Amino acid sequence: MEIVVDSKLSINLDNNYYLKIVNNVKEITINSIDIRNLNLYNILKKEKLILRIDFNSFDKKQYKKILKRLLFIKKIISKNGIGIMENSKFLLGYIINYNQDSKEQNDFILAINVIFYKTRYERYNYIYDTVCDYLDNFFYGKNLCDFKDNKCGEKKGTTSVMGCCRHYKYKLLGPLYSKLVNCEHLTKEYKCGAKCISCKLYTCDYLRKKGIVFKIKDILLLDVFFRPLQKYYIKYMVYTPKEKVIKRLMIT
Ligand code: SF4
Ligand code: SF4
Repeated sequence: MEIVVDSKLSINLDNNYYLKIVNNVKEITINSIDIRNLNLYNILKKEKLILRIDFNSFDKKQYKKILKRLLFIKKIISKNGIGIMENSKFLLGYIINYNQDSKEQNDFILAINVIFYKTRYERYNYIYDTVCDYLDNFFYGKNLCDFKDNKCGEKKGTTSVMGCCRHYKYKLLGPLYSKLVNCEHLTKEYKCGAKCISCKLYTCDYLRKKGIVFKIKDILLLDVFFRPLQKYYIKYMVYTPKEKVIKRLMIT
């Protein structure tokens, strides 16, 4: 999902929710609750939960804690209903001091969007696609791997082609009889047919020397919604199609 502010200064989320942008707290006429102060005691007293998110009142170091608390509370109170119906959509809350150019703030809003999916599978599927899109866009059209004649920068001066889309295939007789083959998910057009998030997150020494590295703890959606073992699988299930990765995450 791309964050788009419409003419009514609102941001539409999935599942029929939306957030309204205001300039200051005085513009909010409904009884709302500061997202930093969510706890069971103060929300159970309310019939409906309307959030107030003032981006000047907390910094990105607090994002994870706030989002985890919102996820917990949403699970508990979702039967009461969250947001109020306005124009056939649910107003989920207000945002103040929003900077549309801030990647961190937009990631925070995307994480709120994730929280309001109904099922864990929907959440994982959305996060998976969103992070893959981000990584694809990061590389798109830049040739950061410096491919030339099918050889990337890391493999320059070797006979190896296809970058890191190759792996050893072991024969029945053991590792000594292995051979290097193209990944079975590499298409004829030299594209990945597997949408493997672990491969997309991988950067070799060549890219690291250029300062390109992706850490799960730096990607808010991955950091907030997955447990350590799930993060391990996200990082290391290379050469694996999306469906298999998500299946593993669901049972972990
Ligand atoms: S990540 Fe490294 S090894 Fe893989 S294609 Fe890019 S430069 Fe080559
Ligand atoms: S699964 Fe990984 S190694 Fe295989 S084609 Fe896709 S990106 Fe390349």
